[in-house]
Amino acid sequence: MRALMLTGDRHSEVRQVPRPVPAHDEVLVRVTVSAVCGSDLPHYRKSAQDLGHRLHTVPGHEAVGVIAQAAASGDGPAEGTRVIVYQHSGCGDCTFCLSGEPMFCADRRTLGNHRSGADGEYLTAPATGVLPVPADVSDAMAALIACNFGTAYSAFRKSGVAVGDRVAVFGLGPVGCCVVALAAAAGAEVFAVDPIEGRRDLAKTLGAGTVIDPIAQDPVAAVAAVTEGRGPEVIFECSANPAAQTQVMKLARPHGTVVLLGANNSMEIDPGVDVIRKELRVIGSWVFTQPEFPAVLRAARSLPALQHLITDPFPAHRAPEALAAADAGHIGKVLIDWS
Ligand SMILES: [Zn+2]
Ligand SMILES: [Zn+2]
Repeated sequence: MRALMLTGDRHSEVRQVPRPVPAHDEVLVRVTVSAVCGSDLPHYRKSAQDLGHRLHTVPGHEAVGVIAQAAASGDGPAEGTRVIVYQHSGCGDCTFCLSGEPMFCADRRTLGNHRSGADGEYLTAPATGVLPVPADVSDAMAALIACNFGTAYSAFRKSGVAVGDRVAVFGLGPVGCCVVALAAAAGAEVFAVDPIEGRRDLAKTLGAGTVIDPIAQDPVAAVAAVTEGRGPEVIFECSANPAAQTQVMKLARPHGTVVLLGANNSMEIDPGVDVIRKELRVIGSWVFTQPEFPAVLRAARSLPALQHLITDPFPAHRAPEALAAADAGHIGKVLIDWS
């Protein structure tokens, strides 16, 4: 089958690799659309040496496709069912696996890392790790939901944002933009922060009331100035930029909430000043759980503006350009068409 492979230092290529073979309790999925995630980019930027096993593993963890071969065990969806592949799988037996949270399993395996990933024509997945997609949800929207919108939804639900709250969103890649759409729809006043103009424009389209270029002005001062000098009720950090991570902790108000979604960097905080003496609530949020999926779908349906995040997919033979576009700060979601 054809698959995208990382070769190191921001290079990748499409080449022929063996089609993965499903185990007894796994399905074979023919991928129609995969999507590039911000969390793919730190690996894309690594040298070939630092890529290690990823040099030989199909990357990507956001896949939509059709069941090409049902599980021999009889579990899971039938051949021909359109599905999202849930990015994490586990042992299937522990407390977390049984509650639909395999990302917390001690034996967690993630697409594109511990197992062959989304950016190829086929992948295998546990029969319990594929989520059927309703007919009214397009492949492109399903790919957005498979990671970014699901991630944003789960973080938003944990945050407890209420109508009338002031909400700041740092980082306006697809996850940040989805948070903007959710917060605006919930009746919050949204401040959206990103150095890329096109991303700020997109955030406005999705409901942000105020957009801020953190290069042109200090976002902490700008938001504090219109929130009694004390910051907004809730802040979402979606950029993974260490400077922004420091800024959100400074901007947070007493009794405020900071939700951290941007990973792959370390941040420095002063616990006394930034957290304890503000009685701050700091929440980490990773990905949506499998039981949340029906609510994720309902939320996506209620937000037609999410269509603005969808851009034309790159054809499979141009998949390396998709990674380069994401790396360059593409506006909206980067998709690859494998159909
Ligand atoms: Zn992702
Ligand atoms: Zn488990």
